[in-house]
Amino acid sequence: MKYASPTTVDEARSLLADNPGSRVFAGATDLVPQMRSGRPEPSVLVDLKRIDRLMAVNHHDGRWVIGAATPTSTLTHNPEFVAMFPGIAEGAGLIGSDQIQNRSSLGGNLCNGSPAADSVPAMIASGARVVVASADGERTVPVADIVTGPGQTSLAAGEFLIEFEIDDAPAGTSDAYLRVTPRTEMDIAVVGAAARLTLDGDTITDACVVLGAVAPTTVRVPAAEAALVGSVLSDEVLETVAASASAAANPIDDKRGTVQYRTQVAGVLAKRAVALAAQRAGNGG
Ligand SMILES: Cc1cc2nc3c(=O)[nH]c(=O)nc-3n(C[C@H](O)[C@H](O)[C@H](O)COP(=O)(O)OP(=O)(O)OC[C@H]3O[C@@H](n4cnc5c(N)ncnc54)[C@H](O)[C@@H]3O)c2cc1C
Repeated sequence: MKYASPTTVDEARSLLADNPGSRVFAGATDLVPQMRSGRPEPSVLVDLKRIDRLMAVNHHDGRWVIGAATPTSTLTHNPEFVAMFPGIAEGAGLIGSDQIQNRSSLGGNLCNGSPAADSVPAMIASGARVVVASADGERTVPVADIVTGPGQTSLAAGEFLIEFEIDDAPAGTSDAYLRVTPRTEMDIAVVGAAARLTLDGDTITDACVVLGAVAPTTVRVPAAEAALVGSVLSDEVLETVAASASAAANPIDDKRGTVQYRTQVAGVLAKRAVALAAQRAGNGG
């Protein structure tokens, strides 16, 4: 196995094209444990962390552009980002530990393809996009379109993520992400729920609810969103959100949670994430 550390997107693109079976990595916090557990070694490990564009975080012209290999701690330590996207920061801030977050990237969290990836539901709720380096240039796709199943992505061979784009949250908008784990630290979500709401006075004018860890990929809950838009938040609306989220969940049964448990918790967490996002949005977003 060889190691390569390109310094430009083009150099990385060429390395991947010239070496079938090569693989990109950023923090390697998923990749190294997977290789140690016996997964096949790539022919070339392509380190993305020396490419400036993949390590940059910029905020201009009403948009955040976040390098796909940037450590997630860069975001959770950015007060402006945390104030605008508290839910995305909550997800990123739950990944592992401080040590893990100093390595782990949004690109790796997404492309590892885990249904339990903590940063993904809130990014989808905020309409985040990714810029993908493809063989003949770049293409921009919604984050929601990248993961197709556990460990599976829609990226073609040789493609990799360059950066994430997230438009500024409109006035009166905020988000939230909550998860349940069997242990309080260093565990992955049994259920995760993200919500993003826009309020005009007390009335909800836009809503997005996304669940993690309850299906092969993240799950949007359109019935909850429909119940929220045009409403003033009430116990009745929150109960509809909870019932819709439970109905949308299609979880597995394993030692970390039964189907019945995950289904019920999906409803409870969705309801709580919506209430928290509404409270934040009501405070000015
Ligand atoms: C102790 C521990 C605790 C953890 N806890 C959590 C947790 O609580 N929540 C959670 O969600 N995750 C957790 N993780 C998993 C992991 O830390 C995260 O998924 C992390 O965000 C992965 O980022 P990375 O940069 O390290 O990815 P890497 O390991 O570098 O890459 C992961 C995968 O993504 C691919 N990839 C990486 N970057 C790109 C790119 N730019 N374009 C295309 N493909 C790319 C790689 O080829 C690989 O398949 C934990 C891991 C450990 C070791």
